[in-house]
Amino acid sequence: MIKYENVLTTCPYCGTGCGLHLQVLDQQLVGTLPAKNHVISDGGLCIKGWNAHAFVNHPDRLKKPLIRKNGKLVEAEWEEALALVAEKLGKIKTKSGPDSTGFLSSAKCTNEENYVLQKFARVVIGTNNIDHCARLCHASSVTGLAGSFGSGAMTNSIPEFETDTNCFLIIGSNTSETHPLIGTRILKGQKRGAKVIVADPRQNQIGQWADLYLEFRPGTDVALMNGMMNIIISEGLEDKQFIAERTEGFEEFKALMAEYTPEKVEGITGVPAEKIRQAARLFAMQKPSAVIYAMGITQHTTGVDNVKSTANLAMLTGNLGIPGGGVNPLRGQNNVQGACDMGGLPNVYPGYQAVTNEEIQKKFGEAWSCAGPTQVGLTVTEMVHEAGEGKIRALYIMGENPMVSDPDINHVRHCLERTDFLVVQDIFLTETAQLAHVVLPSVSFAEKDGTYTNTERRVQRVRQAIPPVGEARQDWEIICQVARKMSAAGFDFKHPREIMEEINRLTPSYGGITYERLEELASLQWPCPATDHPGTPYLHKGKFSRGLGKFFAVPFKEAAELPCEEFPLVLTTGRVMFQYHTGTMTRRSPKLEQEVPEAYVEIHPDDAVRIGLNGNKHVRLTSRRGVLEKVHVHVTDRINPGVVFMPFHFAEAAANILTNAAVDPVAKIPEYKVCAVKVEAA
Ligand code: SF4
Repeated sequence: MIKYENVLTTCPYCGTGCGLHLQVLDQQLVGTLPAKNHVISDGGLCIKGWNAHAFVNHPDRLKKPLIRKNGKLVEAEWEEALALVAEKLGKIKTKSGPDSTGFLSSAKCTNEENYVLQKFARVVIGTNNIDHCARLCHASSVTGLAGSFGSGAMTNSIPEFETDTNCFLIIGSNTSETHPLIGTRILKGQKRGAKVIVADPRQNQIGQWADLYLEFRPGTDVALMNGMMNIIISEGLEDKQFIAERTEGFEEFKALMAEYTPEKVEGITGVPAEKIRQAARLFAMQKPSAVIYAMGITQHTTGVDNVKSTANLAMLTGNLGIPGGGVNPLRGQNNVQGACDMGGLPNVYPGYQAVTNEEIQKKFGEAWSCAGPTQVGLTVTEMVHEAGEGKIRALYIMGENPMVSDPDINHVRHCLERTDFLVVQDIFLTETAQLAHVVLPSVSFAEKDGTYTNTERRVQRVRQAIPPVGEARQDWEIICQVARKMSAAGFDFKHPREIMEEINRLTPSYGGITYERLEELASLQWPCPATDHPGTPYLHKGKFSRGLGKFFAVPFKEAAELPCEEFPLVLTTGRVMFQYHTGTMTRRSPKLEQEVPEAYVEIHPDDAVRIGLNGNKHVRLTSRRGVLEKVHVHVTDRINPGVVFMPFHFAEAAANILTNAAVDPVAKIPEYKVCAVKVEAA
């Protein structure tokens, strides 16, 4: 009988963090099976999880380092590539200073790898210029929820949706397509009797099962939530005891909410006043109620305002510090939570310890035997822009693909091409890697040990199932090798377990999350400050991280770019179930790629008539920043008139050629969800 080895690990796709077994035969990956009794996935997986193994042995895998010679990337030996990286980074630091180099860490890589890269940036180069794609998805959550509660993470846990929540407000989240196993938990909660309210500019998949569906004009989230809160206050449905005992700023907030009458909000959002009343009453009266949101809330120039409105709504109804309630931002990538936790951000060390705090500077200075940088560094969009200006001279990118994921890609290309030295560490020759001076081949999730932290702060093991493909190396190992070539101390780790031990010592919320405990308990949710602490399923019980929860009086503001005569439609972007992010892995997984193999744009039948589509199968899309010449068109009433939708996974018709790089003034997240476009029959 054929004997398979099944290696228990964590799904490499979305932030849900499902458990799966990689099936191995003679050191070859042959399949994926769900993990029975897993705390999140409980024996289930979505189609991406079932195909998690499919890209690992794709012939496109990078197997040797590449160095650009005479304009072409050619294969090289590791020794030559590492020496070149060390030499160039050293020279640029000496000549132009530490802040002339920038780093992108990775929401796909493990906690240990992200920890080592931020340590390299701060210790070896001496810069806080480190960021990653959390900036592009949930920077507004981190900033907004930290302002309201003192902690920027999802407050509650996924299993509570099935067992405790009585009302869901899902706003700006296509949950059953983007986080399918969370969608399943919500629908099981609905079967138990919970009510589901879905608010979205597009009739998304989970909206089909909603008890109440609110289809609103893109960019009017604050007005919609203010309208709900106006009704809750005017009908006396607020939780007066919770407000009095646990919050501050209520009176100023209440005064502003009085302005957002349901009729006025109907005029702004397009949602009938009566539906807003129904939603408000359901949410306030069916406790515990949970707000669930994703990038429909965060990716706006008003992203922080949107997030603060979700926090206001939860505090107003006393839905915090209890199981089944809370404010629940669903993080996109498998380890975007962990990459933030590990300090892959320009303003904080691991565990959100501020780089500007002198005590913290001293703590890390002593632990790392060096005085680290004290100024807040640049965000990803700032780094890319400054590369175009010649101020950032070197960029080191680990497992990210800004040539598809960032807004206004034409500008990104211009900036990356101007960089003196671009290093990309990845598993495939991505659109970004194609522009690099040196490409370092790293291993996939199936070839590494480490940990990921899912959207509900749950830390789980990633386990190596097969040897590295070709000459690919571990990301942490590559960074340590470059560090040692630059004569840096503190990069002698032999295994990710040793990196976690350093994380335990320096990161209070991870103090009790050790490999030994993860073997025994399978997972732990932070904060978990000591090895006798059980972890924390829901936050803010009895007291907020900042003491009192803070109400913010948030007025409605329009998006940065509105439709006009020349660009009369609003483009909003998002994901589809079968593809993931920039498609690097899913597009090399045959079963996933065959489901949705190309980009498309959804347009309402009325708009199709207006532009004279006339049965044409393709359209040209134009914004102020670029043109997509030939995009497949779907005519559907899933979308409102005046709005068009495009998934952003496809490099050959990249929606981000069109999107607006205008950012939220505080979180610096770009406004992917609203830009003005013209659509013509092609
Ligand atoms: Fe993987 Fe997310 Fe699907 Fe779970 S829901 S199997 S974590 S992609």
